[in-house]
Amino acid sequence: MPLQIVHHPDYDAGFAASHRFPMSKYPLLMETLRARGLARPGALNTAEPAPASWLKLAHAAEYVEQVIRCSVPEKIEREIGFPVGPRVSLRAQLATGGTVAAARLALRHGIACNAAGGSHHARRLQGAGFCTFNDVAVASLVLLEEGAAHNILVVDLDVHQGDGTADVLGDEPRAFTFSMHGERNYPVRKIASDLDVALPDGTGDAAYVERLATILPELSSRAHWDIVFYNAGVDVHAEDRLGRLALSDSGLRARDEMVIGHFRALGIPVCGVIGGGYSTDVPALAARHAILFEVASDYA
Ligand SMILES: [Zn+2]
Repeated sequence: MPLQIVHHPDYDAGFAASHRFPMSKYPLLMETLRARGLARPGALNTAEPAPASWLKLAHAAEYVEQVIRCSVPEKIEREIGFPVGPRVSLRAQLATGGTVAAARLALRHGIACNAAGGSHHARRLQGAGFCTFNDVAVASLVLLEEGAAHNILVVDLDVHQGDGTADVLGDEPRAFTFSMHGERNYPVRKIASDLDVALPDGTGDAAYVERLATILPELSSRAHWDIVFYNAGVDVHAEDRLGRLALSDSGLRARDEMVIGHFRALGIPVCGVIGGGYSTDVPALAARHAILFEVASDYA
């Protein structure tokens, strides 16, 4: 079966090429997936904007309204890293709706990926660190509220700690948050996940994969998980501008293979989101994000 992928052309909010956030990675990722035969018409799903009622499960009602009306206070926009105009507002709603859609597809098909998402720094009260809405937290709370899932595991392997997800899901006993990240990477003040593993600068493929291999069985033995949200951020890569962990392309592939293979062998649905990745070489960056889809396709 082809891998179910959720996408929308407006995931790209059209930032200038010089912007610190490489927005053009979204259309380039889709081009890469099409070129590699991974994005098949019958398995390509168009994201719809998350309604305010979903967003308010994870975020303060006032902040949700501010984003929808494009009236986010400047102080918060500075913490997010860009102004929240109509295109940014729309993309945040679409990326969140996309992760909810991918989660539902994962429950039905075993695995599905959103070609965006992983905005894990957005906290209950506001966005931060290039993240407007926390798509994985919203999707988790939507599934729990609908009764589509009762036990949710978040495996966040973006190089940055999943502080926003920990903040939103901290008092939700039916969701377990795991973050493995660079100890010295953003955010400076981390919000404790249910399980955090902080790695030193320069951790390469071998040490990274070895650590992960010991943790995955620990995670799967904690509960019967109805679904795993996997944040496959590629900012762990050696050539990433913001990461410090020094993984190679083959390290990324080994990581994705290990996570997806582990949970799929147990019959647990996996919803993949792309997470962070920052490089001025955007085609190379898009190719790194494509690894998640290549690996996931083998399990579709
Ligand atoms: Zn990151």
